[in-house]
This record gives sequence, C-alpha cells and structure tokens, in this order.
Amino acid sequence: MPVTSSMTSSRAALRSVTPGTYVDCATCNARIGYSAKTRPNQVIANVYSDGKWNRVEHYHEECYYRSGSPYGEPAPGR
Ligand SMILES: [Zn+2]
Repeated sequence: MPVTSSMTSSRAALRSVTPGTYVDCATCNARIGYSAKTRPNQVIANVYSDGKWNRVEHYHEECYYRSGSPYGEPAPGR
C-alpha cells in the first residue's frame, strides 16, 4: 500500500464556478465559465511533484471524471 501524505500529495476539490472565473480546462482547453442557469462546478487540483507544490489545474467537472479522476475523488466544496 503506498504511503500518502495529505501535505505532499496531489489532491482535488470540487468548487462551484463563480462569476469572473477565467481559467481553461486542463483536458479540453475550453474556458470554464460561470453560468447563472446551469450553476456549473469545476474541479480544482493542487498538483504536487516530488513532494513539492507544482501547479493548480482546473477542470470542468465532467472532464475530470471523464479523464478518470487523475487526482482522486474531489473533496466536496463548502
Ligand atoms: Zn473541459
């Protein structure tokens, strides 16, 4: 069983897309945009490399699951 640390391993969180969000999806490269009608969610992943924080990636919720949840099950938003 691999040893994991919550401080040094990549993890993902599910957040609602807020107005004024200007980020592109890491898998489909399309803009993640706010919509008052559909209230979309995004997955925000903190990616660690060699035990150090490396970058943040944003995904459409459906793109994240479609790519096999690369950083695990996203923690629900607050
Ligand atoms: Zn996408």
